[in-house]
Amino acid sequence: MHFDGEVMRIFQSAGLADKVATVVRSSSRGMHFVNGEGRTLMIRRGIDGPGPHGWAGNWYFHQPILEGVLREGLKRFANVRMHLGHDVASVDDLDARYVVGCDGARSLVRQAIGSKHIDLGLHQPWLVVDLLCDPDSPRTKALPDYTVQLCDPARPMTVVNVGGDRRRWEIMLMPGDDPARLTDPGVFWPMMARWLGPDDAQLERAAVYTFHSVVQEGWRKGHLLLAGDACHQTPPFLGQGMCAGMRDAANLAWKLAVVVRDGASDALLDTYESERLPHVRTFIDLAVKLGAVLQETDWTAAAHRDRRFEAGVEMFDFPQPQLGPGCRFDAPPPVGTIFPQPRLADGRLMDEAIGQRFAIVGEARMLDGLQTDAVLLPDVGRDWLARHEVRAAILRPDRYIHALACDRQELEMATGAAIPWARPRWRRTT
Ligand SMILES: Cc1cc2nc3c(=O)[nH]c(=O)nc-3n(C[C@H](O)[C@H](O)[C@H](O)COP(=O)(O)OP(=O)(O)OC[C@H]3O[C@@H](n4cnc5c(N)ncnc54)[C@H](O)[C@@H]3O)c2cc1C
Repeated sequence: MHFDGEVMRIFQSAGLADKVATVVRSSSRGMHFVNGEGRTLMIRRGIDGPGPHGWAGNWYFHQPILEGVLREGLKRFANVRMHLGHDVASVDDLDARYVVGCDGARSLVRQAIGSKHIDLGLHQPWLVVDLLCDPDSPRTKALPDYTVQLCDPARPMTVVNVGGDRRRWEIMLMPGDDPARLTDPGVFWPMMARWLGPDDAQLERAAVYTFHSVVQEGWRKGHLLLAGDACHQTPPFLGQGMCAGMRDAANLAWKLAVVVRDGASDALLDTYESERLPHVRTFIDLAVKLGAVLQETDWTAAAHRDRRFEAGVEMFDFPQPQLGPGCRFDAPPPVGTIFPQPRLADGRLMDEAIGQRFAIVGEARMLDGLQTDAVLLPDVGRDWLARHEVRAAILRPDRYIHALACDRQELEMATGAAIPWARPRWRRTT
């Protein structure tokens, strides 16, 4: 249902942001954790207007429609073949240089790799109910515009405005529930009675999912790689599972291109897991912590929890973790975090000027005459650089910060020596 501004930026790099924007809904209202009596405990902040990525910070969508745009987008590439409705039965010696298994939680490619399964402890079944609401119903009109995480020990729930007339309820299964009967309208409507009933909406779909918190170690073996739920799963309390898979794709795509197209060492591909695993782990750990707040069903513990928030509503944002060690300078954040996307003087968003390449932003004097194949963007991101007391930043093709420089010597060192895997032409030639 939800993706963030960074993911919209990834759609932008795939040339699809404008099309995606026509089928999704942006919202600045955030996610509110509310207790059984209706008191707000915590809010995951929304962002007004374009956020640091140059796009709204939060977007809501209906998966089949978004997938339609992505599939349509694939038609732009004559070398891409789609085989829908086919099952991969085994993966063995291949003609392909690389296989990326984005084959979900029960990944066959993962079995071929033999990754190590690390259980992070949360496994909980939830019922998912998608409704098409009657826009003229007063009860529909009264529904909140923001996402509600109802922390009611009687029955935790999530309510999301997906867009248009579509709303999603996620309802936690309680001891004694019969999962086979929960998708029965006579069973789930009463659970939603405080919001609306069968006169206010039409059922589109009801299904039970089990939310998991799991990571795998071993995302690559030779020519096989994993991405998405095949190598990590999070409970959806932050709306970040697919977002993590999209970040995997953005991280891996430029590295595969550099290896396959430019002949860089395939050791670069080992930096994919070392960078991404700690990053996604930060999101999963936070989702598990939020799950502990939301999923509390012991009344005494829930009352104790509510008292913790009596001093006021706790506000938080999505984490902005640093990538693990890999293809970046060994330095504290903001190295290894994503650089924002400002607008350029000509009105374009920064990434439009970069394409799928390395880039250097910084003071014009610092960049003047620099021998490099990277895209030079003088005086771009000035406020950000000043705030971090640096004069230039080297950005990778996925816009994560490779290195920062305070003077010309540091910048030349970073551009010249730091990226053994980068395109030979990109390296300093003087
Ligand atoms: C209720 C719920 C709500 C969620 N809400 C959000 C949210 O708001 N935001 C968010 O970012 N994430 C959310 N998530 C998580 C998100 O759905 C997943 O992280 C995401 O779908 C993972 O994508 P994936 O492509 O890695 O795997 P999947 O979506 O599982 O896709 C894998 C695909 O591979 C196919 N496949 C598997 N094996 C084979 C085979 N052998 N041969 C051929 N095909 C195969 C499957 O059919 C499937 O199409 C939610 C999850 C749930 C359950």
